[in-house]
Amino acid sequence: MYTTEFLDLPSLASAAGSVRLPGSKSISNRVLLLAALSQGTTTLHDLLDSDDTRVMLDALHTLGCGVQPRQVQPGAPLRITGLGGQLPVGAAATLFLGNAGTAMRPLTAALAVLGGHFQMTGIARMYERPIGDLVDALRQLGCCIDYLGTPGYPPLQIAPPDFSRFPQAPIQVRGDVSSQFLTALLMALPLLATERDITIEVVGELISKPYIHITLELLARFGIRVANHDWQRFVIPAGSRYQSPGEIHVEADASSASYFIALGAIAASPEGQKGIKIEGVGLDSIQGDIRFVEAARAMGAAITGGPNWLQVQRGRWPLQAIDLDCNHIPDAAMTLAVMALYAQGTTTLRNIASWRVKETDRIAAMATEARKLGAVVEEGADFIRITPPQDARAWRAASIHTYDDHRVAMCFSLAAFNPAGLPVRIEDPKCVAKTFPDYFEALFTLVQPSAPAPVICIDGPTASGKGTVATLVAQRLGFALLDSGALYRIAGLAARRASIPLEEAHAQRIADLVGTLDIVFAPDQRVLLGGEDITLDIRTEEAGMNASRVSAFAAVRQALLQLQRDFRRLPGLVADGRDMGTTIFPDAPLKVFLTASAECRAQRRFKQLIDKGLPANMRDLLADLQARDARDMQRSASPLRPAEDAEHWDNSAERTVEDAVQQVLTWWQQRQPFAHVI
Ligand code: C5P
Repeated sequence: MYTTEFLDLPSLASAAGSVRLPGSKSISNRVLLLAALSQGTTTLHDLLDSDDTRVMLDALHTLGCGVQPRQVQPGAPLRITGLGGQLPVGAAATLFLGNAGTAMRPLTAALAVLGGHFQMTGIARMYERPIGDLVDALRQLGCCIDYLGTPGYPPLQIAPPDFSRFPQAPIQVRGDVSSQFLTALLMALPLLATERDITIEVVGELISKPYIHITLELLARFGIRVANHDWQRFVIPAGSRYQSPGEIHVEADASSASYFIALGAIAASPEGQKGIKIEGVGLDSIQGDIRFVEAARAMGAAITGGPNWLQVQRGRWPLQAIDLDCNHIPDAAMTLAVMALYAQGTTTLRNIASWRVKETDRIAAMATEARKLGAVVEEGADFIRITPPQDARAWRAASIHTYDDHRVAMCFSLAAFNPAGLPVRIEDPKCVAKTFPDYFEALFTLVQPSAPAPVICIDGPTASGKGTVATLVAQRLGFALLDSGALYRIAGLAARRASIPLEEAHAQRIADLVGTLDIVFAPDQRVLLGGEDITLDIRTEEAGMNASRVSAFAAVRQALLQLQRDFRRLPGLVADGRDMGTTIFPDAPLKVFLTASAECRAQRRFKQLIDKGLPANMRDLLADLQARDARDMQRSASPLRPAEDAEHWDNSAERTVEDAVQQVLTWWQQRQPFAHVI
C-alpha cells in the first residue's frame, strides 16, 4: 500500500496481463456465518482478509466453531466446522465486533434465535449505527434482546428466547434504513423453519436489492431456498436445514473489477497481447455491480467472460458517450465518469443522488476533479454530465484531490492514459485501503508507461549522505530504490569469498562471477546473496574498500549495468551511486549531485559505524575516504563526476538531511506540470 502524501503517475501508454482481485467483503462475512450455522465443514477459498472478516472469525471461534487456520492466509483456504444449527447448552460470551455491520447485524439475529447469553460490543462508531429495526423484528418472535447503552443501538445483551408466543403472522421488518436487517433475518430464521414456513414482510421500499440478491444466492448454496415475492415478502420453506456445500469460492469484489474493466477498455494492448484478464469474478457473478459490464460494453469495451473470469480489450475507440440511469450500479458508475473522458460526445449518468451521501459528495468530487483535467462538467442534484477535453491540447495535468474516498482515487488513476501524455498526481493514495489496499501495485503490474519510468539520480562521493537522502526521497514519493553501491559491495564480497584477487588481471573472472549471483533486496531492507543474509557483511569498511577496487574494472561495471537498469519501475525509481546520472540513467529527468567536505563525510561515517556497534577510527576513516575518492574520480570507467545537467547540493554539517530531502522534492516538483495543491 502507498502511504505517501501523493502518488505521481507518469503518462501511461498501454496495459495487458492478468489480475486477481481481493474477495468481496459482503460475500466473505455472509459465507463465514452460513458455514458456521451449517452441519459439516466448509472449505472457503479467496476469503477477504480485512478488519471486518477478522472480527467475524474471532466471534465464530469464541462460539465454538472450528476455524482452521485461525486467520486468513493469502492463497490458502480456510476451513469452518459449523455448529449444525445449535449452540452448546449454556453458551455465553462477550463478542467484540469492531465496526463491522456485516458481523453485528447477522450475528445478533442468529444468536438471539439460537439461545445463550451474549454481549454484542464494538468500537464507539458501532454504537452510533442503528440496529433498532432488527431488534424490533426479532422481538416479535420472542427473542430476548436488551440495549446496554442508547436504545436502538449496540451494545446489546442477548438472553435465551421464548418462542411460546411465536406469531402466525409474517415477521415485519423495515427495508428502507439498511438492507442488512433483512439479510440478518433471512440468515437467522431458517434455523426456526424446521416445521413450518416462515414469512418475512418488508415494510416500506426495500433499498439495496442487489445485496439481498447476494444473500438469497448464498443461502441457496447452503441448502436454503427462499421464495422471493417481488422483494416484499420472503418465504423460508418448512424443512429448511443448513447444509455445507463442502467448498465455496468467494467472488472478487465486482466494484473493484470496474477499474480494470475500464483499464482494458481505455488502454491499448501492447503488440501480441490481449488486454486485461480479471480473475475471481465473472459474468455469472451474484454481485449487482457486475452489471457495470453492460455499461462498459455500451461505451465500447470488448468484454468476454466465464464463471470466474473476465477478459477486456479495447473495442470501439474512442469510446462512445452514453446516457444511462445508474441506480443499479451506484458505486461502479463512478468509473463510467472517467471512461467518459475518453468518449466521443457527452456522457450523462442519471439517478445517482446517493453519490451525494457516500464517503464524500461524489457528484461534486467527480465534477471538480474532472474539470481540473480539462473536461466540461455539468452537475445536478442527481446527475452528472461530462464532455471530455476537446482534443489532446485541452487536457490539463492535475493533482487529484481524493476526499478520503477510495473510489475517487482508483477512478482518476485511469486519467494517466490521457492523449496529452501528462502525468497525474493522486493525493492521499492510501485512501484505497478501504476496499483495495494494493490497488496501485496491481495497476502497476499491468500498465506500461509512455516513456521509461522516471528516475531521480542521487550521485556523490562516499559518505556524502546520499544513501539516507535517497531512501527518504523514495519513501516520500513511493518510488523504488536502487542502492548501486550495495551491488559493488556484493561483487567485492563474492570475489573475495571465491578467492579471486581484486586485480585488473582478474576483472573478467569477477565480472563472470557477478553474472551468476543470486541477489535479493528484501522489502525489510535485508540483502540476501544465494539466500544468505549478508546485510552486515557488505557494510564494513573493508567491504567498502573492496567495492571501490572492483568498481574500477570496466568488465565488472558492464556486468552490473543491466541489473541496475532493471530496477527502473513504476511509479519511479530513486537511484543512488556514483554514475547514476552519467552512465546508468542518462535520460533521468532529475539528477542530483551531493557533496560534502572530506572531514564532514569522515565524521558521518564514524558516527554510522559507532551506531552500528562497529569499530571506527577517525584518522583511518579520513585516509580511506580520500583514497576511495581518488580512485573513484580517477578511474577510466565511469569516473565519479557530476552529470552536466545535475543539480548540486552541498550536504555539509550545518545542513540537515531533511533540508536535502526537501530540496530534492522541490526540484522534482519543479519538473512536474501541475501545481502542488494539497
Ligand atoms: O556507495 P557505497 O559506499 O556503498 O559504494 C561502495 C563503492 O562502490 C564506492 O566507493 C564506489 O567505489 C563504488 N560505486 C561505484 N559506482 C556506483 C556505486 C558505488 O563505483 N554507482
